[in-house]
Amino acid sequence: MRGPLLFKDIDTPGLKGIARYRELGGYEALAQTMGHSTPEACIDVVKASGLRGRGGAGFPTGLKWSFVPKQSPKPRYIVCNADESEPGTFKDRELMEKNPHLLIEGMILAGYAIGSHVGYIYLRGEFEYIQRILDAAIAEARQAGLLGDSVFGSGYAFELHTHLGAGAYICGEETALLSSLEGYRGQPRLKPPFPAVEGLYACPTVVNNVETLMAVPPILKHGAAWYRQWGNEKSPGTKVFSVSGPVKRPGNYEVALGTSMKVLIDDLCGGMRDGLELKAIIPGGSSVPMLPASDLDTPLDYESMNAKGTFLGSGGVIVIDDQTCIVDALYNITRFYAHESCGKCTPCREGTFWLSEIFERLLSGKGRMEDIDLLGDIADNILGKSFCALGDAAAMPIQGALKHFRHEFEHLVTHQRSLVNRRKAELAEVRA
Ligand code: SF4
Repeated sequence: MRGPLLFKDIDTPGLKGIARYRELGGYEALAQTMGHSTPEACIDVVKASGLRGRGGAGFPTGLKWSFVPKQSPKPRYIVCNADESEPGTFKDRELMEKNPHLLIEGMILAGYAIGSHVGYIYLRGEFEYIQRILDAAIAEARQAGLLGDSVFGSGYAFELHTHLGAGAYICGEETALLSSLEGYRGQPRLKPPFPAVEGLYACPTVVNNVETLMAVPPILKHGAAWYRQWGNEKSPGTKVFSVSGPVKRPGNYEVALGTSMKVLIDDLCGGMRDGLELKAIIPGGSSVPMLPASDLDTPLDYESMNAKGTFLGSGGVIVIDDQTCIVDALYNITRFYAHESCGKCTPCREGTFWLSEIFERLLSGKGRMEDIDLLGDIADNILGKSFCALGDAAAMPIQGALKHFRHEFEHLVTHQRSLVNRRKAELAEVRA
């Protein structure tokens, strides 16, 4: 990982092991908290830090924790969403692979704050190798007395388990994740009731993303003001961005929220690969609307992205160059959502299928001008009318592309070939 701030130790050799983790101050936040701080005080610090969910929604973490009913006689659960299936996002896997104990410490602290005694880390099916790393770290923590009947001898009991899904994108949606964890088909559930009230096994449950939970130990150790040294008022702290596409140095970068996309792409990633120009950026994983290159100066924070009509999402920054056909790129994204649609509701199940069909017609050179508006109409009929956010995820990128790159769709209809192919041919001519 490049430029780490909050995760500054991430590339330290041997950090996977508990000894090295503790040498670097690991589990100090837990020692500081157990027996010295109340659950309510922990929630207050996390609230004051302004930490927001790093999985995509950006919901305030402390507030989410405070929704768990205090008087409920039922058990409570803390669940880590380590599904990370959003195309373009690959931060959580690096964080877990290199620093599993930070996640374990974050889980124990979050569990303590909400009054939970059992936690689950839900991993996508392809992360079996990470499950092995986490299981080994959990065994070390248990042996060191940090998990089990009395965490740090405080009398507070907490157990932690990992669970492997089967590699379905929809299981990244929190209620589908909980269904899958219970052994049912991974399909979303109706909200309300929200998981904080009725989640896993119909008990109060908090579901947090990996990066969110890993931010908790340093926040509790150093305080809210320390965390707020980065970012801005409404988007404090740091965020890990996964940059993919034709830049010179793709990879994971941790930067302060509010850093501009230009700094991330041009300075940190070294700019575009030779001979290529930036055409568009998808700032938050494949489910968010793309921005044109002219928006490169936009700060990477929740509010600035919303002002531009898109979202910070999961921080999966997908860079698109001038040699890429936008229609083809959108077809690729749409096929993904059509494949991953769980089929529970009609707008998403049928809409994603028909969107794919229309893209195929356009790309085969048989598209009609009215197909372009038809894509927009179908997207409008999915957005906000589907059972869960996957429908929106399929619709929003199409709306974004039609807003900024409609001319590429029109060129494809008029000339039966992509605008990019023409540019490629022109470039070949110039080079010859
Ligand atoms: Fe399933 Fe798609 Fe409906 Fe979500 S929006 S419930 S993924 S069919």
